[in-house]
Amino acid sequence: MKKKDLILAGAVLLLAGILALALRLPKTENGNTIKVTVDGEVYGTYSLAENQTVKIQTGHGTNVLVIENGSVHMEEADCPDGYCKRQGTISRVNETIVCLPHKLVAEVESDGSTTDDADDAPDVIVK
Ligand SMILES: [Zn+2]
Repeated sequence: MKKKDLILAGAVLLLAGILALALRLPKTENGNTIKVTVDGEVYGTYSLAENQTVKIQTGHGTNVLVIENGSVHMEEADCPDGYCKRQGTISRVNETIVCLPHKLVAEVESDGSTTDDADDAPDVIVK
């Protein structure tokens, strides 16, 4: 295999990944929990039904997530780019706020207690 072929294979894989992600996005179901992951490990899961402030302190730094009326936003962060604070408010399943410098991902999930989307198109759930 030539180097060019490897690059091509990589590009195809990357595209497939982006496509898979994009296909998940149009889902507009409201979530009811927010899962916080740091360094690929689950830091905690918090209910969106409860207004609360979640302080996430790790070796990378500090982030403050605020849960308000079923939506989540990054209130404070001491990361150098501050990009996570500009990602706005999330409330729908699969929406995320990412803080790259802190390797932190906050993702909205549904714990399955809502049953009104039973007739939805088939969806692959990866756990
Ligand atoms: Zn950040």
